[in-house]
Amino acid sequence: MSNALIPAFQKDDALLQDIASRNRYDGHFRLWWLGQSGFLLQHRQKHILFDPYLSDSLTEKYAATAKPHVRMSERVVDPAALGFADIVTSSHNHTDHLDRETLLPVLTAKDLTHFVLPEANRLFAAERLSCSPSFAVGLNDGDRIEIAPFAIHAVPAAHDTVERDEEDRCRFLGFVVRFGDWCVYHSGDTRLYDGMVDLLRPFAIDVALLPINGYQAQRKVAGNLNADEAAWLAREIGAKVAIPHHYHMFAFNTEEPGVFEAACAREGAICKVLQLGECFDSATWAGFAQRVPPAAAPPTATDPSD
Ligand SMILES: [Zn+2]
Repeated sequence: MSNALIPAFQKDDALLQDIASRNRYDGHFRLWWLGQSGFLLQHRQKHILFDPYLSDSLTEKYAATAKPHVRMSERVVDPAALGFADIVTSSHNHTDHLDRETLLPVLTAKDLTHFVLPEANRLFAAERLSCSPSFAVGLNDGDRIEIAPFAIHAVPAAHDTVERDEEDRCRFLGFVVRFGDWCVYHSGDTRLYDGMVDLLRPFAIDVALLPINGYQAQRKVAGNLNADEAAWLAREIGAKVAIPHHYHMFAFNTEEPGVFEAACAREGAICKVLQLGECFDSATWAGFAQRVPPAAAPPTATDPSD
């Protein structure tokens, strides 16, 4: 077996340049896949960084163990270059979603980054990041927070099940983000759970970011939707387009995106597979061609005191 890493579509300076060049104050949005469950969402010159994992922590941690995390693909960017993010999320405590090596450089880059996570995980995350617990914005399922221009709704995630702490707070979350005319759902790590479709459908989700790596007892890790389930869910919740994630990071816990594309074709769901570092742009996606968001005026002349 070759050890060659799957190359990024674009990385480092090319990726950062792409992000900067699309950073317009308009009605559209841009979304980049950064590997595993990591995405960058851009709208009206604000950015949400979902679940970034941009280090080799897990590969190093498990190198000499029975559960090696052999990396499959290139890292797309140094997390220190993403310090411009206005909001950073962690859907749960597993290191590929709460990575000290990734989060420290991102979160310390500027004072006003909002770090959104399950309230149940506040103390754990503060300890992992050696920061004050008051730093995080904790949500439970059903909670909603507005950080303009985004409204973030927390929904449960089942990894493998919907798990609650002693205060009945979800340890695993997904985030439904509404902004402008749009709605994007970042699932976190999840399998199907009772009531999931009924909960998600009313949001009229435009883009659903769904894991596809599935579950296998011999992997000895919590599971996710497999390709068939993700395609079924995308159709059932009425997602206009589904983008797969949580694959091509670790050799022992992956899936091929082509399997998801085939499942979507069978289920009648629309999907888009992004390469690493590739951008999904709502302005050029054919499925959104009919949607012409209202023109947005740029922010008025900056106050000289800013
Ligand atoms: Zn994960």
